[in-house]
Amino acid sequence: MPTRSGSLSSLREFNRLRIVDYLRINGTASRAELSRRTGLSRSTVSTLVADLQRRGLVVERAGQFAGEGQPGRPAALLELDPSAAAAVGIDFDHDKVRVAVSDLSRSVLAEASAPHDVDHDAQTALDLAAQLTEQVLEQAGLKRDRLLGVGVALAGPIDHDKGALHPSDVLPGWANVDAASELEQRLDTPAYVDNDANLGALAEVTLGAGRNARFAAYVSISSGIGAGIIVDGRPYHGHRGTAGEVGHVVVDPQGPICRCGNRGCLETLASGPALLKLVQDSRDQELSVREMIDLARDGDAGCRRAIEDAGQVVGRVVAGLVNLFSPEMVVIGGDLGEAGDLMLDPLREAVQRNALPAAAEDLKVVAGELGERANLLGALALVLMQSEHEVAARVAGSAAA
Ligand SMILES: [Zn+2]
Repeated sequence: MPTRSGSLSSLREFNRLRIVDYLRINGTASRAELSRRTGLSRSTVSTLVADLQRRGLVVERAGQFAGEGQPGRPAALLELDPSAAAAVGIDFDHDKVRVAVSDLSRSVLAEASAPHDVDHDAQTALDLAAQLTEQVLEQAGLKRDRLLGVGVALAGPIDHDKGALHPSDVLPGWANVDAASELEQRLDTPAYVDNDANLGALAEVTLGAGRNARFAAYVSISSGIGAGIIVDGRPYHGHRGTAGEVGHVVVDPQGPICRCGNRGCLETLASGPALLKLVQDSRDQELSVREMIDLARDGDAGCRRAIEDAGQVVGRVVAGLVNLFSPEMVVIGGDLGEAGDLMLDPLREAVQRNALPAAAEDLKVVAGELGERANLLGALALVLMQSEHEVAARVAGSAAA
């Protein structure tokens, strides 16, 4: 933190931070809007903006103007210089590591991925992630000092006190691995870790189908089923970091044994592998989830039935979620989310049938928009969310220098 040399300069710094903060959250604004929103006079805003512009931290967006300008000269739209800072997102998927770098406007500048048996080999996966990070920074022409930090998506419930996954059979190679510290050592930058469904949720409410929703649930249906719960715009973790583990809600106590050791969890009935197992028995060739969805779309009765029934059972569990925390929107993602209305129609019907009418009345149940990049984009959004004070301090600090 810069030392405060007097109340006047610290007031100036505080006001600069308010401008930076407004632009960080809202993207763009005219000087008039900044004055209105911060309560600062037009002349103070003009002085502070000129100060930030001189240092190249705030720029006028070329060719774009606010529609509300006074007659005569149109009002220029201001934004933070996207290149003032960068974030890296890392997604440890089961069979690959993906890495992307973005600027402050959340535009992805470079992206890379490599196949790897992530679940069983954490140390090599972490090394690979560090290499890919160097690679994307180089591709984007960014120096390391521009980096605010890395956001990390892991496919399991996270103990936020330890920064590690809860020990389980789900990701055997990652038990007690403190992924954040491991990456901080390798990359010499702050690392923030969260569960993949929480980050998928954050991405969908920041950039995707749930844009601007304050209370939302994102349910990812792939090889496992997990939900990310957004409360007041942020992922909700709960006391133990396991909030949103809807895949392990028991829906049939006599059902198949689950990888968590329980019986008849939602995941054993409605995940990709569970559905493939169901349809496989009646045919000779092995199917992928994608092929099963395509067959269902072409009218294959067995594949349709499997997907519809899965929609119904997921819908019953989502109805419970809706009763418990009353979201405005539920976003369905993951491989099976790609089935669209084939799965969503029975799911919506089950939610309406089983949830409290008052909670489900104006609830929207929609397909995710970000597909398989949701977790990666959420990891990027996590860095920008966690380092909001750092962004502000960096911008204001350089401006004060
Ligand atoms: Zn289970």
